[in-house]
Amino acid sequence: MTATTVERYARHVDPAFVKLLGMLGYGRAFTRASGSWIEDESGRRYLDLLAGFGSVNIGHNHPRLVAHLRAFFDAEPLNLNHTGVSAFPAALAEQLAQTAPPLDAALFSNSGAEAVETAMKLARAATKRTGILYCEGAYHGLTLGTLSVSATRRMRAPFEPLLPGCAAIPFDDLDALDRALDRNVAAFLAEPVQVEGGVRFPGDGYLRAARELCTKRGALLILDEVQTGLGRTGAMYAFQHEGVTPDVLILAKSAGGSIAPVGVTLTTRRLQRKAFGSMRTFDLHGSTFAGNAFACAAASETLRILDDENLIARSRDLGAEWLAALRVRLDRHPLVAEIRGRGLLLAIELRAPDVAGQWLALAMLERGLIVQPASQAWNILRLEPPLTIAREELLHATETIGAVFDANRGVAPMLARTGLRAAAQLLNRGRFR
Ligand code: PMP
Repeated sequence: MTATTVERYARHVDPAFVKLLGMLGYGRAFTRASGSWIEDESGRRYLDLLAGFGSVNIGHNHPRLVAHLRAFFDAEPLNLNHTGVSAFPAALAEQLAQTAPPLDAALFSNSGAEAVETAMKLARAATKRTGILYCEGAYHGLTLGTLSVSATRRMRAPFEPLLPGCAAIPFDDLDALDRALDRNVAAFLAEPVQVEGGVRFPGDGYLRAARELCTKRGALLILDEVQTGLGRTGAMYAFQHEGVTPDVLILAKSAGGSIAPVGVTLTTRRLQRKAFGSMRTFDLHGSTFAGNAFACAAASETLRILDDENLIARSRDLGAEWLAALRVRLDRHPLVAEIRGRGLLLAIELRAPDVAGQWLALAMLERGLIVQPASQAWNILRLEPPLTIAREELLHATETIGAVFDANRGVAPMLARTGLRAAAQLLNRGRFR
């Protein structure tokens, strides 16, 4: 990667991001990826324990997906068609319906945030109520609608006033939900696990009780599985651990096999009909590229790969092994408050200030691991590798993470080293490397 690329990026795309990468010592341009590995411009390889924030469940450039898409293009398909129906979204919707009965109607879009917005619109139109309850600590996207149901003050503040009728309640608090679910509430929107909020798992029974409360009060239960769906937690969907079904399920990220942008809002045909089922309402949901043939072909093959390679059981079993191995390796480490996880979604919660999370992530990067803290809770290191990762690769990850923690046993020296590094980078004028 030439300096020109970095300069171009800084000049025309995102100057602050480039500066931050340089300041934090993250200055690398990643160029290629295969399976669980990412390569930078110098040819150095990194084991990917972040997987595009949970978007790469089947691994980077899965050979079968790539071959499928090559064949797809060879057939010169019609990608967009707004004057007739297309086989690709029809086939994908049918496949999705089999994964989450009784949800049998798919509304397509191009991102997680769009899929959440679609769910919010559906809830209002289908219930004829306006209120949306969401959870403190929630992350649902960065559009105006999804910021209205996301909790981070810093991200919301510059864009207020946001959508009226949205109210936050504490996560994993059934009394609060009970109190807030009045006759105005169209839907309760929640993540089964708050990943960006700090990989927070609710207590057993929470989703089941929330389901019952919503049904009793005539509100829809919307579950955002943008990051937890498609095998991440060792079940196809995280809500299946509790044997419940939402009224609306939201998917994106991994749905397109890390290659195609796909958003899906899955619901029942009954609710779909109520919101968008008449000649006057059928076009109240839609977008030019929503349900395009390429994205749907990628998603259909991704679902088949998940199934054929048994990746959900693999996530469950390898995740449990890895959790146990990390607990042993980091046992009684003074900086570790807790290690938790389900399937291949794990977290190391630090007993240290937020900056420590970034410091440790950087130290891991320097040893060839891609790790990031939760975006809204930097003292929590999240681990979510591709579900295709090999057992030996996880062993390597455990050893490298262990070595980084061995070298960082106290907060004070770590903060001092962080200060020194920041000063050096400043002297270097925050240059990219
Ligand atoms: N919901 C959840 C739970 C997410 O984790 C994310 C992305 N991190 C989103 C929604 C937004 O998805 P997108 O970035 O595709 O808009």
